[in-house]
Amino acid sequence: MGWFNTCALEPGLFVTREPAVAEMFRAAAVTVLGRDRDLQFDFGCGLAPLRPGLPLSGGPVLAVASHAHVDHIGGFHEFTDRLGHMAETAGFAGLPGLETFVAEFRGWPHLVSTPPAPGWTIADWHLPPAPLTATLAEGDRIDLGDRHFTVLHLPGHSPGGIALLDETDGLFLSGDAIYDDDILDDLPGACIPDYVLTMERLRHLDCRLVVGGHGPEMSRTEMVAIAEAYLRKRG
Ligand SMILES: [Zn+2]
Ligand SMILES: [Zn+2]
Repeated sequence: MGWFNTCALEPGLFVTREPAVAEMFRAAAVTVLGRDRDLQFDFGCGLAPLRPGLPLSGGPVLAVASHAHVDHIGGFHEFTDRLGHMAETAGFAGLPGLETFVAEFRGWPHLVSTPPAPGWTIADWHLPPAPLTATLAEGDRIDLGDRHFTVLHLPGHSPGGIALLDETDGLFLSGDAIYDDDILDDLPGACIPDYVLTMERLRHLDCRLVVGGHGPEMSRTEMVAIAEAYLRKRG
């Protein structure tokens, strides 16, 4: 088996993960095939070249990062059109000012269960800068030709966390704004009052299928239950 594992969820919708990476950093990289261009939403940890392992069509690709944490931007530099929220520009560019958790990743015990290449050690890994080529904000549209996504700015987990919603078919790519696992809201850069507002918003969001930044896919009912549990705890 290769380094990446890709699942087809629906026609034109794929989720790629790194099964050998510790659960804390095992994030979902989502591919959506479009008529005019493909969307790649998030980019793994950068432990192996990502792009050749993705089920892309071979046409143009819009690369959108949900936020600048290391487990979501490892292969971002492999793409030329790189979009993300302006609140995290420093993180994407590898500059100080935004926590990307590179040091934690590097020092994580048992980071991988098998190495990505024979003889590999963490000393071989680095996170190449991937400065944004354009910024996204709340309400912006991502146009793939035959389907469109609306950008939602959902801070809390990180200041510039974004999610993408296809309002026509109800597909919601939530990044780390919400996922079916422990919700991390006390990291450097996180903000609980912002997260409460984000969860309040998600609780009322009209969608059908939710692909989170971690954990299994969710129905809307499952997502709402996670948002409401968070609000009971922190709201
Ligand atoms: Zn993550
Ligand atoms: Zn994160």
